[in-house]
Amino acid sequence: MDPFFFHPGGKDATEAAGILARLAPGSRVLDVGCGLGAGTAFLSERFGAAAAGLDLSPRAIEKAGELFPGPEYVQGDAAALPFGDGSFDAVIMECSLSLMTDPNAALREAVRVLKEGGELVIGTLSCREEGPLCSEGRVSLPALEDALLEEGLCSLRFQDRTEDLRRFAAEAIFSCGSLETWQEQAAELLGAPAFPCGVCRKELGCHLVSARKPAGHTRWREMRHRGEFMTEDDLRAPEKLLRVPGRDVARIITRNTSGSMGEPKRVCFTEEDMAATADFFTWGMAPMISPGGRAAVFMDGRSPYSVGGLLSDALERFGAETAVCGFVTDYAAAAEAAAGAECLVGMPGQMASLAEAAPDLRPRTVLLSGDYVPASVEERLRKTWGCEVFTHWGMTETGYGGAVDCPFHSGAHLREDLIIEIVDPESGEPVPRGEVGEIAVSAPERRAMPIFRYRTGDVGRLMPGICACGRPEPRLDRIRRRIGDEYPVPGGSISIRQLDECLFAVPGVRDFRAALTGEDTLSVTIDGPASAADVESALRACWPALCFTVEKAPLPPEKEKRRLERRTGP
Ligand SMILES: [Zn+2]
Repeated sequence: MDPFFFHPGGKDATEAAGILARLAPGSRVLDVGCGLGAGTAFLSERFGAAAAGLDLSPRAIEKAGELFPGPEYVQGDAAALPFGDGSFDAVIMECSLSLMTDPNAALREAVRVLKEGGELVIGTLSCREEGPLCSEGRVSLPALEDALLEEGLCSLRFQDRTEDLRRFAAEAIFSCGSLETWQEQAAELLGAPAFPCGVCRKELGCHLVSARKPAGHTRWREMRHRGEFMTEDDLRAPEKLLRVPGRDVARIITRNTSGSMGEPKRVCFTEEDMAATADFFTWGMAPMISPGGRAAVFMDGRSPYSVGGLLSDALERFGAETAVCGFVTDYAAAAEAAAGAECLVGMPGQMASLAEAAPDLRPRTVLLSGDYVPASVEERLRKTWGCEVFTHWGMTETGYGGAVDCPFHSGAHLREDLIIEIVDPESGEPVPRGEVGEIAVSAPERRAMPIFRYRTGDVGRLMPGICACGRPEPRLDRIRRRIGDEYPVPGGSISIRQLDECLFAVPGVRDFRAALTGEDTLSVTIDGPASAADVESALRACWPALCFTVEKAPLPPEKEKRRLERRTGP
């Protein structure tokens, strides 16, 4: 046990922190709560970094200069750092955050003095319980994740170092007789008041947590401070948002926005932007495909930077074979292409129809993407094909990839370079974690066209707590609705999302189209063996005050996002 390292893991943990902080020769790193300076000096030697140490205790700072000369040592308060904005490439806090009187202010200050692109690394005793950020000398991981997201950081990492803690406790008892004695001696050496130390508590963990202050962070924070958002209109004039010369743009995605007469939306990407999406697809797809497995992708795949093209790239890294089949246009042909595939990727409505048309397929996994995912569709696929269903949320503005389920299926893990805020649709104010609101997305590190606080129109929420899989990315719950997709009708409202929920739960409904006519009539055309009477009674159970006309007719597969038409006039 090195007597000058007062945290579990000692030098090894400090080295791991330096690696997470991506320290390189000449990097400016601030060690907050540096104690006697052993860690600060180690960072400077090991990585060739220009290290500075800060501690509240004048005695520790004085001793640090004597014991470990070299780095700059400054006496000061972590909640009011005596450094300018953007002064450091990295800020490291080793077992100091949990002892601070105002840990939230210390985090805010650490983010302020970081450069854009810099890393914040926190080593701490930890627990998985939700609660205050710090209590009894340990940090609540869910609360820390919240606080880091609140500050607009991204690329969160958790490194479990609980083994360090066990060894540390054993060594402290061995050298000092008891943990309490070690604690008293350490406090004395540091010239600090006795500190709470939860080393002997049960359920206690030890973690290194890192997060990046992304490029574009300053702009994001200013817009958030002023309550500003990016709108569809901004995307209609993409030249104003472009950050690279036109020749570096590898892909432009053009989308007509429904109901508007103006220019279409355009989102531009460089090759690196698209590679970042392929990286996200790679970790996202990992649980869905085995090496050498085969995937059938029923999405657009006409160019290398289409969804299908990027997915093939990602799957190739597993040695998986990918057939990009395009959207389903013919059920028999699709069933043939899907036969024997381990993984199917497709739009929820199309996969629901394919399951009805080809119930004998046996994919191990299905990924639903490209539209909101009704629970009834997931249920149908699980029942019919006996498969595991994963869902993906994303849109053009997120570079196709956005968030994807892990095998625990408790929300979709967000892509690490995005910032998600859930805001009140009326006021635009951020709502607390776990509450429902409109999803605003930022992709501040996008090279061609960074996106800031873009209101998606999707209504959802971030899941509270930490996922059982241990990944730290925040998770999006199922999308609840889209703003503007609901029509008021007698007794409530109706939307395509609600209709999908209702009708894909009826056995034998392969597909349907629906239109509202007049004030109170819904006209539905059904494809599949379901009886009109069954369909009507399912609809009546959901909308008792509406009138229905139900017809049966073969329908071509729907390739667009599903929608509910409103017909006025005869
Ligand atoms: Zn997970």
